[in-house]
Amino acid sequence: MAEDRWAIAVHGGACDIPADLQAPRREGCAAAAKAGAMILASGGSVLDAVKVAVCLLEDDPAFNAGGGSVTNADGEVEMDAGIMDGATLDVGAVACVRSLYNPVEAAHAMLREPPVLLVGAGAEAFARSRGIAEARAGMPLATPGGRGHDTVGCVARDRKGHVAAATSTGGLAGTLAGRVGDAPLPGSGFYAEDGIGAVSLSGDGEAIARTLLAARVMRALETADASAAAEAIFAPMARLAAEAGVILLDREGRVGIAHNSPHFAAAFVREGMEPVSGIVWKENNG
Ligand code: ASP
Repeated sequence: MAEDRWAIAVHGGACDIPADLQAPRREGCAAAAKAGAMILASGGSVLDAVKVAVCLLEDDPAFNAGGGSVTNADGEVEMDAGIMDGATLDVGAVACVRSLYNPVEAAHAMLREPPVLLVGAGAEAFARSRGIAEARAGMPLATPGGRGHDTVGCVARDRKGHVAAATSTGGLAGTLAGRVGDAPLPGSGFYAEDGIGAVSLSGDGEAIARTLLAARVMRALETADASAAAEAIFAPMARLAAEAGVILLDREGRVGIAHNSPHFAAAFVREGMEPVSGIVWKENNG
């Protein structure tokens, strides 16, 4: 039965992807989706699946997250990440962290803690207390000259219908120190709720936050099919002349992908189907 299938989708950012990064991003997305799929296929949890997939993308210098993050106006890395458990509606998020290789691990560790979001030094201290790996002096964290929007994200569904979502980013290159975008904000850069679905976004963080874009897509998922729900990003982004890309799974694990950026890197796997990965071009979508 379709509703007993696991499914996973990942993205590697909605942006204008330079030619030299297209193959690495396609391959990075495929590898992350495959790693998450193995967890789901063996009966592992959706939270582990999205965490592992996003960790792999954070570890890959082709993406703007974790070790591949861009730098802000002060030449510093400041990363944000969020994760959500669709079964409990628990959220864990960190923002403006400078020293973590895998911000999504800290967000994951936050899931059962009372705060939704920790920022800066407090988030780093929390990560340290949980034994999460920190960069040491002299170890490179940033990728100088990062280009465009290339946040990473993942949504997953297990055979029981539980869903989860995670998003992680190095933010936008050259922004003011302390700037936080949509990525760690539930309802903006991600959301997950069993019985409805799971969503992860990339794009202009201020526009995504101002329009509560993940919440709008979730609302669309209550009545529309996966493809139509993904298209809920178009009108708000057009109104603000902004760019975004979304991946989603509906309650049965059907995949929706839409973007109005020139390119969007994504991959997905659904139980019983061949994996799909690639770069989507705007002229073919939306
Ligand atoms: N949405 C991210 C942010 O504004 C950027 C991105 O998607 O690459 O921080």
